[in-house]
This record gives sequence, C-alpha cells and structure tokens, in this order.
Amino acid sequence: MGARSREQAFGGRIIGATIRADRAREAAREAIRKADRAEAEAWSLRMEGNGGPAQPSPTIAQCLNGGLSWLEVECNRCKTRASLPLDAIKRPRDTPLWKLEASLKCRSCRKGRYAPPVHMIKLTEQREITPYLWVHPDEEER
Ligand SMILES: [Zn+2]
Repeated sequence: MGARSREQAFGGRIIGATIRADRAREAAREAIRKADRAEAEAWSLRMEGNGGPAQPSPTIAQCLNGGLSWLEVECNRCKTRASLPLDAIKRPRDTPLWKLEASLKCRSCRKGRYAPPVHMIKLTEQREITPYLWVHPDEEER
C-alpha cells in the first residue's frame, strides 16, 4: 500500500471519527445544560413551594447555563420583591446562590450599614419585577 492510497483509506475514517467526537461533545453540553436546568428548577420550586432550605443550591453558572438567569428576592421587612439578573452579579460564577442572600439588601429599608435580611423566592427565565430598589452584592464591597 502506497503512502497516497493509505492516506485516502484512512482519511474518511478520520473525518468520521472527528464528526462523531464533535457530535458527542455537543450532546454532552446539551445534557449538562438539561441537568443544570433541572437542578435550578428543583431548587427554585423548593424555595417557592417550601420556603427552602436554600442549601444546597445551584451555582450562578449552573442557573445561567440552564436558562434561569433571574433571581427573585423579597425584603423581610417591607415585603418588596425584585428580580436580579444573575449575569450582572460580580461574583465568581461557581458561587452557590445561597451565599448571595446575606449580601443582598433592600435599598428602601437600608439605614447606613444596617439592612434587614432578605430571602430568595425563586428563579425565572426573564425579569418579572423591576429591580430598582435593590442593591447588588458588588456595590457593598467598594
Ligand atoms: Zn425593604
């Protein structure tokens, strides 16, 4: 077998294997996306239906990957609700959602360094409530 015909004989198999690898990786990404979605939904339903527990919770990255990129929170004092975009929160993407709760503050109830606690309600695909009253976690760190 000459080098040329050998190249041709293997060429088709190499292309086939490369395509299979690409398809398998695509299927794996899709499977992870579905798993992230399901985990984020389970957490959201537990929060909305049972009021928690918030731990364990999915990470910011898992929620974004699963398409649930808005976090709805409620102020324990004035009961104002707000939707926060998870992709705008300047925290490492592997931060679990429950770790955000302590740093979220209701702007209208905040007095100096003190702010009443807030709690997380659910995750949504899109914004459902105006976020104007709320302070982002990263604003507190400056
Ligand atoms: Zn409030």
